[in-house]
Amino acid sequence: MTQRSFAVIGAGMVGVCCALELQARGHRVTLFERGEPGGETSSGNAGVAARSSLVPLNHPGLWQALPSLLGNRSGALRYSPAYALRRVARLAGFLGQARQRPFEQTTKALDALIVHSRQRHRHWASEARAQHLWRHDGWLYLYRSRQAYEAARSIRETWSGFGVAHETLDAHALRSVEPGLGSGYPLAVWVRDADSASDPRRVVQAYAALFVNNGGRLLQAAVQQLTQASGQGWLVHSAGRPAEAVDEVVVALGPWSPALLGELGLKVPMLYERGYHMHYGWNGVQPLVRPVYDTGAACVLAPMGRGLRLSTGVELNDLDAPASSAQLDMAERAVRTCLPLGARLDTQAWTGARPTLPDSRPAIGASSRLPGLWLALGHQHIGFSTGPGTAALLGSLVDRQPTPFDPRPFAPGRFRL
Ligand SMILES: Cc1cc2nc3c(=O)[nH]c(=O)nc-3n(C[C@H](O)[C@H](O)[C@H](O)COP(=O)(O)OP(=O)(O)OC[C@H]3O[C@@H](n4cnc5c(N)ncnc54)[C@H](O)[C@@H]3O)c2cc1C
Repeated sequence: MTQRSFAVIGAGMVGVCCALELQARGHRVTLFERGEPGGETSSGNAGVAARSSLVPLNHPGLWQALPSLLGNRSGALRYSPAYALRRVARLAGFLGQARQRPFEQTTKALDALIVHSRQRHRHWASEARAQHLWRHDGWLYLYRSRQAYEAARSIRETWSGFGVAHETLDAHALRSVEPGLGSGYPLAVWVRDADSASDPRRVVQAYAALFVNNGGRLLQAAVQQLTQASGQGWLVHSAGRPAEAVDEVVVALGPWSPALLGELGLKVPMLYERGYHMHYGWNGVQPLVRPVYDTGAACVLAPMGRGLRLSTGVELNDLDAPASSAQLDMAERAVRTCLPLGARLDTQAWTGARPTLPDSRPAIGASSRLPGLWLALGHQHIGFSTGPGTAALLGSLVDRQPTPFDPRPFAPGRFRL
């Protein structure tokens, strides 16, 4: 196989994994990051890597929930009306995918990506000596009433169809699995097919350190432009440094991908599903040992090194819109009615954006428009967990080898990218 030089742009979980994978395949890789590896979206997430995440937000049940969501008072989904109006075509495309046939295509594709990613995480965590940052004891969906539990039946049926290991727990069984939970949840579902990280940022940093220790080049540079070199290859232009010439480029800029690719005439139909997190102390006797999704409060509570991280639902808004405390305050109030949440530990909430494409599948593979340009972006709610599988798929496509799973549902060409 011929060795080529690659620039990977963006060192979130997706970019770092792409850099590691290409390096392991014998290519020369420079990783460009304007801040620190894992310093943005890949640091602030809930750290869950679960097969249950094969069900995207735009599943067929969304239609039934829509009237209540449109009131803009739900903790699960809020939106800026101005943003929604500006992005009406993308939102229509997103809603249009909430039908049975596209749902079946997407869940099948995402399951393959998630399953492969969990294996690859174990590999990279072992290589990077970061196993201690991972737990392998599943996660819990908590229900405050039988009615709420019954309303999620179709999601459980989808999980069962894919063989996702999960079991329903009554209040007694729940307390034996997670003694820190009070009596506010008569029913829960324990998704056994799930891992979780105690510090997502440190996981990305450990993987990035492995890349550097293995001889990879990590450049702290804000990439401003990509241009095609005369003849063959690409030039990467960053602030305050000479342009770098490489054979091929991988864009893995998460929510910032549309800006750089727009300069190349590629219009990425990305939606921003923003979210917030805050860390809390715990006034209970027993701490939580694994992440839980409090479905009534529409938020995830995940034990992290810094404290209990509460991550909110979705806020559809511009990437750089001012932060709003409404959703976090609402989730916190709802959680406090059931759990002994302690004081806030951060001076302000973290804000990030889940980068989502209308069919809830990331774009992974060669650009259909520009030779030597590869894309790894649009990982919605699951990019922390699916970076390694993304990279494995990309690496095999780069080397024209058999792919670990079907690449077609992820082809950038479906959006003319
Ligand atoms: C509240 C919340 C909870 C979530 N929970 C989970 C979860 O439990 N599990 C899960 O799997 N996923 C979760 N996600 C989703 C996940 O965090 C994202 O899908 C994932 O982090 C995207 O990774 P990325 O590498 O594509 O992007 P990023 O992590 O954003 O990386 C992009 C990088 O590009 C860099 N960059 C930007 N512009 C430039 C430039 N011009 N030049 C150089 N570098 C640049 C940025 O600094 C950044 O480091 C959650 C997201 C949110 C918001």
